[in-house]
Amino acid sequence: MEFWNGDRRDFIRTGVSAAVGSSLYGGHLLAQTPTGDRPPNTDGVKVLFPRDRIPLTFIIDDSTCLVNMGHFGIPQFHACYPDREVYKKPWQTFPREIPDSFVRKFGEWCSENGVKGKYSIVPYPACVGWMDRELPGWSRMALLDSLNLVRDLMLPNWDIHPEMITHTRVINLKTGRPFEEINPSTMENSYPREKKSVDELAAYLAYALKILKNCGLPCEGVTTPGGFGNMVKPELSLAVQQAVRDVFQSEIPHFFKYVVGKEQSTEPTVEHVSGLGTSNLNLTVNIPAGTGDWFGGWEGDVTPQPDLYATADASAGQLVNLIERDQPGFFLCHWPGMYSNGTKAGFHAFQRVVDSIHEKYKERVHWMKLSEIARYWASKELTKITQQGDRITLDAPFECYDFTLKVEKKFAQLPVIQSENNDQQRLDEVQSRSKLQTGKWFKEKEKSVLCFQLSKGRSTIMLK
Ligand SMILES: [Zn+2]
Repeated sequence: MEFWNGDRRDFIRTGVSAAVGSSLYGGHLLAQTPTGDRPPNTDGVKVLFPRDRIPLTFIIDDSTCLVNMGHFGIPQFHACYPDREVYKKPWQTFPREIPDSFVRKFGEWCSENGVKGKYSIVPYPACVGWMDRELPGWSRMALLDSLNLVRDLMLPNWDIHPEMITHTRVINLKTGRPFEEINPSTMENSYPREKKSVDELAAYLAYALKILKNCGLPCEGVTTPGGFGNMVKPELSLAVQQAVRDVFQSEIPHFFKYVVGKEQSTEPTVEHVSGLGTSNLNLTVNIPAGTGDWFGGWEGDVTPQPDLYATADASAGQLVNLIERDQPGFFLCHWPGMYSNGTKAGFHAFQRVVDSIHEKYKERVHWMKLSEIARYWASKELTKITQQGDRITLDAPFECYDFTLKVEKKFAQLPVIQSENNDQQRLDEVQSRSKLQTGKWFKEKEKSVLCFQLSKGRSTIMLK
């Protein structure tokens, strides 16, 4: 159970390593991945979630343009694992395409309902064709139209990630061809089977990222397929940092790999931080999911179980548990399981879950893309906050929207945030937490909650 099983991700489970992780790193994920530099803490000031709401995100794996990874992936997994029942499914009867008309329907509904998240584009899906060159079985125009649709409709609300190169066979970077032997060490879901250096891993990730760059799809992060990198977790985190920096010059690289256990924290971890306080700051943000995939599965033929996320009245389910525990609600699916081989049963189940959550919690939740989550957590963890007398000083390595602080103080006047370049933000008081947004503050007993746009560099808040 601990490790991958075919396409399965690494489920972080409670136990010794998790206990060590939480005591050493205040988190939950990787006991062995160094978190690196941190600024000193200040008592009396606490960074809350953005707008003091529960962040939500929807993580979509195994999506790409047109190619149904359920149809094309299964025979390749079957060749490697001939005895596993899951790979004996009748993939020939599954549609080879997930059409753009469905992407449009899905993307438009999500946009109308404020849903945001991550959408993979596998760059060379199941070795069918190259997203930046040619997709055999589809016209050049169909591929270009499909990429345009992702850029125009999805990109504003979804981070685009490569999910390695093929999500099936490991590619020899020297030749661009899959390795000849078929075994777990040449399948991306279980690659690598021995220690690899950060440079070797970064080269593999960069190869995937460059294909999407050629397609005009900017990326700030990557998704690992299944158990990719399980034997090189600390190196993988650093390789993400280097590859994303190298190909896209992103300020805050992030990745999705882990699914946390039911009772564990779903907060992202900020890892491999170096150069804090200098112009050469480096970091990686590791964003986990807090649910399994209980829609239509990576194959696309599984019966959805929406109640496992949230029942119709949102009285139970793992997303409800997370919200009630004040934990980020980051939930997961696979794209073939939204389309459900044309019935769209997974998509309908997903719509019901979102409707139920919105009906009960609309005022308590806040949808974010993964890059927005990464920026917020990087700012939360790495902004140095000091309080001297009636002045709070913030030294921020990044600009951050909706930055939200709780201060042990009731303001007599409107709080003013003064930034290094003399910009002033005067915050207006609101009467309820649900009205909190950038430029507002509200009183909570003897404390105050402030929400503002954090500038890069030094800002001060006068407490009067
Ligand atoms: Zn996947």
